[in-house]
Amino acid sequence: MKIPFNIDLKEKVVVVTGGGGVLCGVFAKALSKCGAKIAVLDLNKENAQRVADEINNDGGTAIGVAGNVLDKESLNKAKAIVNEKLGTCDILINGAGGNHPKGTTTKEYLNIEDLEKNDEIITFYDLDPKGIEFVFNLNFLGTLIPTQIFSKDMLEKEDSVVINISSMNSFVPLTKIPAYSGAKAAVSNFTKWLAVHMSKVEIRVNAIAPGFFLTNQNRGLLTNEDGSFKPRAEKILSHTPMDRFGEPEDLVGTLLWLVDKNSSGFVNGTVIPVDGGFSAYSGV
Ligand code: NAD
Repeated sequence: MKIPFNIDLKEKVVVVTGGGGVLCGVFAKALSKCGAKIAVLDLNKENAQRVADEINNDGGTAIGVAGNVLDKESLNKAKAIVNEKLGTCDILINGAGGNHPKGTTTKEYLNIEDLEKNDEIITFYDLDPKGIEFVFNLNFLGTLIPTQIFSKDMLEKEDSVVINISSMNSFVPLTKIPAYSGAKAAVSNFTKWLAVHMSKVEIRVNAIAPGFFLTNQNRGLLTNEDGSFKPRAEKILSHTPMDRFGEPEDLVGTLLWLVDKNSSGFVNGTVIPVDGGFSAYSGV
């Protein structure tokens, strides 16, 4: 892959959670291009290994590591592997996250007639606390727990960085997905809290809030089987002044800027939207 500019990450060890996924796979490759050694950590070991193999085949250094961001024991095991094979962690990208259908309403607005038992429509009243808990845990605890584990390596170093992945819905909630919106708001809030908490030990903490990227997670919500856009996708585009969905590569410049002390050494506790203007546009 091509990166927009180079930063010097030689000898740096990066852990990317959710690295087997679409956006974080691209992050892992971009950071490798800058010379970092990459631990691609994912619940899905196969996908993590696939991304690591692609990096190694391209001349980089990477390992695929199985790890569950909600399980301290699993992360401690992953950390032991990273430390043995690559060294101690300098940069943590908290990318694992996502939504769940059980935390999602079928419709944008509540209609009284939908309350008549209709199994096909999930109203606000049908939202399953277990589904909501899943989404809160994955996004919020799934950011906090890996930071507890991997930032320990950073305490004796300079220039360490944590990057969290938030979302548009952390600023203003999106319809249908109250759990995911609330959980990403918590990720943005935690980013600020952690930046302050870690400021005396020289760990900078920032977040990227991607706009709308067509990936596995949201493809079903946004496109029909033939690839055409659903009304929700059309609505997103009509609220995106730049008139398109993002490509994962659109995030790379912001990632490299936030990681590089020379570029962003005084940037701390921020949540940077990369959204084609979506969050700036009132719709009028
Ligand atoms: P993705 O589904 O392709 O990647 C997520 C990865 O996380 C997957 O590989 C999955 O196996 C892994 N994962 C899930 N649960 C895990 C766990 N418990 N432990 C470890 N790994 C786990 O998703 P993506 O679209 O690339 O999203 C990456 C991040 O960006 C997520 O935090 C997502 O919420 C956020 N995001 C995505 C978009 C978008 O438009 N796609 C927009 C805003 C924010």
